[in-house]
Amino acid sequence: MSSDLTELGVAAIRDGVAKGEFTAVEVAEAFNANVAAAAALNAFIVTTPEQALEAAKANDAKRAAGQPLGKMGGVPIGMKDLFATKGVQTTAASHILEGFTPQYESTVSQKLWDAGAGMLGKLNLDQFAMGSSNETSYFGNVISPWRRNDGGNAALAPGGSSGGSSAAVAARLAPAATGTDTGGSIRQPAAFVGISGIKPTYGRCSRWGIVAFASSLDQAGPMARDVRDCAIMLEAMAGFDPKDATSLNLPVPEWEAGLNGDLRGKKVGIPREYRMDGMDADVAASWDRGIEWLKDAGAEIVDVSLPHTKYALPAYYIIAPAEASSNLARYDGVRYGLRDLPDGAGLQDMYAATRAAGFGAEVKRRILIGTYVLSAGFYDAYYTQAQKVRTLIAQDFKNAFTQCDVILAPTAPTAAFGLGEKSDDPLSMYLNDVFAVPASLAGLPAMSVPAGLNREGLPLGLQIVGKAFDEQGVLNAGLAIEARAQFSAKPEKWW
Ligand code: GLN
Repeated sequence: MSSDLTELGVAAIRDGVAKGEFTAVEVAEAFNANVAAAAALNAFIVTTPEQALEAAKANDAKRAAGQPLGKMGGVPIGMKDLFATKGVQTTAASHILEGFTPQYESTVSQKLWDAGAGMLGKLNLDQFAMGSSNETSYFGNVISPWRRNDGGNAALAPGGSSGGSSAAVAARLAPAATGTDTGGSIRQPAAFVGISGIKPTYGRCSRWGIVAFASSLDQAGPMARDVRDCAIMLEAMAGFDPKDATSLNLPVPEWEAGLNGDLRGKKVGIPREYRMDGMDADVAASWDRGIEWLKDAGAEIVDVSLPHTKYALPAYYIIAPAEASSNLARYDGVRYGLRDLPDGAGLQDMYAATRAAGFGAEVKRRILIGTYVLSAGFYDAYYTQAQKVRTLIAQDFKNAFTQCDVILAPTAPTAAFGLGEKSDDPLSMYLNDVFAVPASLAGLPAMSVPAGLNREGLPLGLQIVGKAFDEQGVLNAGLAIEARAQFSAKPEKWW
């Protein structure tokens, strides 16, 4: 019984517990066992099996007392280690926060616990969520559970920055996990491991208690095995929060109840600028298949233009580091985590020594770039310019959405790459975000769903971008693809 339970997703666990087909404790025990047996994947920084069990017991007790369970009743999940969790170490995968134990709970994680979820542990990620491969974590690489079908055992990237989340869900260590997405960090790792993930409209989920990277872009969202599970979990995570000034003051729609893969009367835009020269043949073919699937679901396909696409990546890699350089100024050895106080040193020396020892190379690169583009002599040439480009990109989407309801594109330009393949070349790493970043700059909801395998036997994702606040439209197009892709591949267990 117990190993079968880890094949279930959020909806199946919630419904099975509610009906009494199995107990929440059985579910938690099964996932705890898979987590404990998967140390080789390095998906978790901290495991919290007792918290998963405690939440499960509370759900079982509620059920026994005849009380209704929450939206996530009996579902254990993984929590990206970017969310502050009261009493449990929260590091953002950085040495500078090692040992930091928050006195408070992030709004999103609290909402999940209130909905009946339990915590299996804190998931590994790229340091401060900066990266696309999970190779910048102070706590080591996460290894994707997937391998190429060439008989070799090359270690592959689970994507990033939510690489612990993607690996854990794909390897059945958790039925779902939280992610955050600043420039693709939910969608690209979901695509790399064959799971679904949605970044909602900017402001849907409170950022309160999430370690800040680039505040005008950061959004939380669910990563799970299918579209329905994402809809359920997003309902539990979203909602107005007066503690976040950018939080949307709108009611949370009933996305699960609204799921409908019939796209008759809908228009799907295909952005011609995303069809890039030298595009990976398998990615191009998967996109073409996606177009056919949406036609089959009743949608009309229209050609749209997003003319400023080629400026999105450079603009993102100015704006995100600029905001990061400001956000990360707070890590100074005084308030949180690490303190490096050399003998006889003064305050300035302590700041410098702490930051030198505490931040990883990629984080330092971003702080340097961000400080540079904000400096008096270069502000207008870089930062102001990038902000103008951002406005143009948002306008591109507005124009396109006068002709269509959602946009379909690949999630990433390639399938998962090998660990070490890009880590010495930041530019080639940044290029992996090319299809993900525009929707982030425009603040739009965007989702990745699994679309098939490439010739190496690795998952490919398709991305749906929607109008602001139209998560339902995005989820429904995702559902139409899911129904036709029939993606059932899973990594063969080697760990
Ligand atoms: N890969 C992108 C970056 O490195 C996006 C990261 C994210 O969305 N957190 O900035």
